[in-house]
Amino acid sequence: ILARIKDVCKRNGLLILSVLSVTIGCLLGFFLRTRRLSQQEISYFQFPGELLMRMLKMLILPLVVSSKNHFVFFQYRTRSIPIIKSNKASAESTTRRIIIYGVQDENGSNVQNFALDITPPPEVIYKSEPGASDGMNVLGIVIFSATMGIMLGRMGNSGVPLVSFCQCLNESVMKIVAVAVWYFPFGIVFLIAGKILEMDDPSAIGKKLGFYAITVVCGLVVHGLFILPMMYFFITKKNPIVFIRGILQALLIALATSSSSATLPITFKCLLENNHVDRRIARFVLPVGATINMDGTALYEAVAAIFIAQVNNYELDFGQIITISITATAASIGAAGIPQAGLVTMVIVLTSVGLPTDDITLIIAVDWALDRFRTMINVLGDALAAGIMAHICRKEFIKDGDEVTTLGSIP
Ligand code: ASP
Repeated sequence: ILARIKDVCKRNGLLILSVLSVTIGCLLGFFLRTRRLSQQEISYFQFPGELLMRMLKMLILPLVVSSKNHFVFFQYRTRSIPIIKSNKASAESTTRRIIIYGVQDENGSNVQNFALDITPPPEVIYKSEPGASDGMNVLGIVIFSATMGIMLGRMGNSGVPLVSFCQCLNESVMKIVAVAVWYFPFGIVFLIAGKILEMDDPSAIGKKLGFYAITVVCGLVVHGLFILPMMYFFITKKNPIVFIRGILQALLIALATSSSSATLPITFKCLLENNHVDRRIARFVLPVGATINMDGTALYEAVAAIFIAQVNNYELDFGQIITISITATAASIGAAGIPQAGLVTMVIVLTSVGLPTDDITLIIAVDWALDRFRTMINVLGDALAAGIMAHICRKEFIKDGDEVTTLGSIP
């Protein structure tokens, strides 16, 4: 038995450490709250967690740029189906985003903002979403890199050096991730404890707000534990529990960071190493998913809008509830993969049924916690989507052969 425990610990060491660090972070945070630390002491205490966030953010840019144009290059060269599908999907979502931005168009500038977002000059690669801070313009990077990938594909042999460069860059970033993950459990303790130290007094949170938070968490649990895994099972006929076990580490990082973009490097790692998803699929699906596929955010925005309606004694009819569901889904596509971005795009949902946008402040007290859970579901949705895509495209990829062969066979 001892040998078996040792083996399990050895194989899942990092995961066990991460689970422990979430637990220790919660306990430490609640214990230190009783000590009434000064603001300065809290900020020193939060420092290791801030380092963790910085490390993750540092890795996103090279990872997305290198993987995207590398992927599109190969798809373009081999002309296989996935790129056609994903182009269609992204064209549809782009149209939808434009529609959303037209909804949101209060000062007449959001359509322009959107166009600017997808064609970023280098200095705005780290660009704030409207109202949010510290966001990365992942959509802009994705579009730039994909366009570059297509052009490289057209250039024939002269494009190969840059593609090889991207491949090396991508692999070296993944190697950095492999080293950095050992710091994560330590960082998670301080990230979570630091947030608990900052939060408002839990007893001050009203009963209604408590019910609202419980409703959101229950919805997320049903979606994450039943609906998404069932979709995965029906399409792939594979065991979703095994798949989800493979990405647990990424889910914990999502819980700790509240950011699906910051979690990207770890989601990549988990999908490639534990779930053996084709790396070309992961490279395409994950960054796009982290930008536009946010099931958790959509769910929370719909519940939050209904909560705000109830607080205002506003009777919603069936049509309005449907409108809320649709705009919440659309608004989640427009939200960036950064902490509390959903709170900003909530404005779209509220204005669609004439609810007061100022009432967003009602839910701020619990939003930092709910954000963590919805980010986990967002990451889970992206990972399962990559798993499903890998299943659907498996024949194409077997036909194409592996990347090295494809690279070698370029005329
Ligand atoms: N924090 C979420 C994410 O990064 C977005 C949100 O709902 O605020 O996926």
